[in-house]
Amino acid sequence: MKITKVETFVLSNKLKESFFFSQWEYNERRICIVKITTDDGQCGWGEGYGPADVIKSGINLVTPLLIGENPLENERLWFNMYRKTLDFARRGILVASISAIDVALWDLKGKILNQPISVLMGGQHRTKVIPYATGLYFSESDNLVAKLVAEAQTYVEQGFKAIKMKVGLSVSKDIILVKSVREAIGNEVKLMIDANHAYSLREATKLSRALEQYNIDWFEEPVSPEYYHHYNQLRSKTTIPIAGGECEYLRYGFQTLLDNDSIDILQVDICGAGGLSEAKRISTLANTRGVEIIPHVWGTGIAFHAALHFIANLEPIPGRLQPSNKYIEYDRTENEIRESLTAPSIKMKNGYIDIPQLPGLGIQIDEKMVRHFSSEILI
Ligand code: MG
Repeated sequence: MKITKVETFVLSNKLKESFFFSQWEYNERRICIVKITTDDGQCGWGEGYGPADVIKSGINLVTPLLIGENPLENERLWFNMYRKTLDFARRGILVASISAIDVALWDLKGKILNQPISVLMGGQHRTKVIPYATGLYFSESDNLVAKLVAEAQTYVEQGFKAIKMKVGLSVSKDIILVKSVREAIGNEVKLMIDANHAYSLREATKLSRALEQYNIDWFEEPVSPEYYHHYNQLRSKTTIPIAGGECEYLRYGFQTLLDNDSIDILQVDICGAGGLSEAKRISTLANTRGVEIIPHVWGTGIAFHAALHFIANLEPIPGRLQPSNKYIEYDRTENEIRESLTAPSIKMKNGYIDIPQLPGLGIQIDEKMVRHFSSEILI
């Protein structure tokens, strides 16, 4: 069996309503996905995290390394792609291109061998996970507090057991927003905050200490991902656990994060940091330090399902009779591509999502929707 075709698609969709986080405005979804086909007509799908057009170019760069190769030898193919890009992309976007291909190869391998990816990765330590709602972004609303409170209450009504909100406007504004959301959702629902590295160490320390009273489960990307030592210092100044890693790449980047004792929770993005193959290696590194992993997830059902399989395979550490629950990030902001590209649709039952049991990623891609979002004219 040989790989005969690697196709890339840049999907785009204008949002009905823009939203903001601490760094910039989102007014469009733009996502690169990849389809890898074999000579017997089977195919696998993957997705890259980051600027879609650049990821597409990166995939085109390494495609000659895949044509004619056996898709079951996915780790050897991963290494060949890594060697081709190493001189230019020890960090960053070409790694996302490899990630997209790696996820597609795992999907293909699962379909060829008729097994879910999580089983091929070594087995499922769990059959369901708890999704946490990612939302509560900033907007141009005249009353941001009321808007965020209403949105948070909607998530609680939908059955979410955990919610993550954005911070990073300013320390004083963030305190008002977090206090309001916590009071609106009560103390039973977990609440996390994400600054997308908007703060200096001094500001992050001030904010953390002010928010400790609101029972925050983690403070994500408080400071710049470049300042590993600031993460470490912040951990010693607050009781709120510190999370990070969505801007980190490959095992080598995560090793630096871990060597600096920067984080309590490691948030690898499977579609950015090197794919499922590399995420598994990163999970081994995290394990040597006893650091928990809750992956960063953004994009379509392809990325979401890759994360479901990865989480299913994470060892339940610490081991005990009743292991702790595992969480998955579930973006709830507007994304028509996420809602319509893959089937079956993602369903939450009693606050949980089941790990897929079908071969590969366990999803079908609606190629009509691929064409629909590929052909949309951008303004
Ligand atoms: Mg984040």
